[in-house]
Amino acid sequence: MSASAREKFRARILEWAAKLDVKATAIYIRPMKRKWASCSTAGTLSFNDELVGMPPELGDYVIVHELLHFSVPNHGKLWKSLMRAHLGDYEVLETRLKNLAA
Ligand SMILES: [Zn+2]
Repeated sequence: MSASAREKFRARILEWAAKLDVKATAIYIRPMKRKWASCSTAGTLSFNDELVGMPPELGDYVIVHELLHFSVPNHGKLWKSLMRAHLGDYEVLETRLKNLAA
C-alpha cells in the first residue's frame, strides 16, 4: 500500500477525532489480527492497516465506531443513535465489513 493512502487514512482519523471532540494521545495504523481497531483508556487508538486499502466508507465506519467508544463504552442505544447521526445507515457498512472479515 502506498504511503499517501496511509496518510489519507490517518488524516481521516484526525478529521473525525476533531469532529467528535476526541483527544487521542496516539494513533497507530498497524497489522492487527481479527480486529479492525481498538482503543485504550489511556487514549491510544489502533487501526488495522488493512483498512487503508478499503473503500473509505468502511474506514469511516471503523473510525467512528471506535472514536465513539471514548464516550460510550458499549453498543447500546446512545452509541447506535450517534452512529446513525454521523454515518446514516451504518448497519449496511457493518454488514459489508463482517462479510469481508469472514
Ligand atoms: Zn465497539
